Amino acid sequence: MTNLPIISLQNSDEAPASPLVMLDGNASARRLPRWLKRPLPQAGMAFTNDVIVDLKLETVCESAKCPNRTECWSTKTATFMIGGNVCTRPCGFCSVPKGKTEELELDEPERVAEAALRLGLRYVVITSVTRDDLPDGGAEHWYKTVLAVREKTGAQVEVLTPDFRGNRAAVTRVIESRPDVFNHNTETVPRLYHRVRRNADYQRTLDLLKQVRDEAPEMPTKSGLMLGLGETMEELFEVLADLRSVGCDMLTLGQYLQPSAEHLPVERFIPPEEFDQIGELARSLGFSMVASGPFVRSSYHAGEMASHLV
Ligand code: SF4
Repeated sequence: MTNLPIISLQNSDEAPASPLVMLDGNASARRLPRWLKRPLPQAGMAFTNDVIVDLKLETVCESAKCPNRTECWSTKTATFMIGGNVCTRPCGFCSVPKGKTEELELDEPERVAEAALRLGLRYVVITSVTRDDLPDGGAEHWYKTVLAVREKTGAQVEVLTPDFRGNRAAVTRVIESRPDVFNHNTETVPRLYHRVRRNADYQRTLDLLKQVRDEAPEMPTKSGLMLGLGETMEELFEVLADLRSVGCDMLTLGQYLQPSAEHLPVERFIPPEEFDQIGELARSLGFSMVASGPFVRSSYHAGEMASHLV
């Protein structure tokens, strides 16, 4: 288990000498604002960790150094990451290891299902590394995992998929597993794709969401962006309009945080009040559900968000 440091941050106005603590625990010259403070772990955290370790599973909570891990794991919630712990894409914001991938573990779908059962999850979020090395991008593995979880637990399932390099048959295969929500992140505005999300393609992301809408009109689609990477508000709202134009129902907006000194720096910390305003404006564009706040992530309180779908 990777130990995520507890980030205890002071008000930058009150403590000008306080260093920024990045998500890997290293200090840097910049300070975090006062609102970026996370709760201490509670009793459930050890239980969640034990289940993950016992079943030899990966989670994006750990691999992406998610700042919400103490909160989510304390309430026995985690987001499973299938397909291994090595990604084939070099995204500048993401701390999931990159490089040579491993063989798919054929019993992984069953182990994810068992973990969901032991944790008592009624809403299971599954994501994966990007597997550009596989002909189907891992779509069949996705299909088997969703089915295994549903069969074993009866829980609702949200998939948070890569773009499968635009392979429409792969996307169709995931749709055929009938997830309750189909999530695919936009991550940032198109101008920043090369720096933030190299090897991805903005139009491909929109096309994927449109494909889901067309092939499964009743299946809610969801997407998310990180803010604070240098995007302008005009660019952001152009993206939100594009997402609405392909029928995207649900939206998550959160603050980008730099996982380590090797990753892209934060260009701006957006205050919570501004996240609220942006969220209100996004709602006015017609999204059924919008979560907007510094610690919002694609899977943060995902079940709660889905339960409010109109
Ligand atoms: S927000 Fe998602 S990725 Fe982060 S700790 Fe919670 S479940 Fe894991």
